[in-house]
Amino acid sequence: MGECIFCKIANGEFNTDFLYEDDLVVAFRDIEPQAPDHILIIPRDHYISIKDISDEAIIGRLFLAGNKVVEQLGISSFRYVINTGKDAGQAVFHIHLHLLAGRKMGWPPG
Ligand code: 5GP
Ligand code: ZN
Repeated sequence: MGECIFCKIANGEFNTDFLYEDDLVVAFRDIEPQAPDHILIIPRDHYISIKDISDEAIIGRLFLAGNKVVEQLGISSFRYVINTGKDAGQAVFHIHLHLLAGRKMGWPPG
């Protein structure tokens, strides 16, 4: 997807520092962090949202990669978020798993 910012990040076009990467996914820090640790985990391939992925390996890998970053950063409490659709707060239409940690978080979410 030529114009997709996350495709470009995954392709290394911005020399983004990856906290984790493998053949299917990459993880990097959010540019506008909503918590002291705010990491995005994305598939290298372009899918608009979680409901557009039917490949179990990719869905599984997103979370396993998140878990690796959790371990790497020594985090104990954290939140995974996947905003799906505009009303849920999705602004980038290349699926991403948010990993948020380092502060107390409210419930229910806003
Ligand atoms: P959404 O609102 O779609 O769930 O989350 C999109 C996230 O991507 C936001 O937290 C936003 O700060 C982040 N983001 C948008 N553009 C960039 C970028 O170019 N680099 C990085 N690292 N994060 C970005
Ligand atoms: Zn993309």
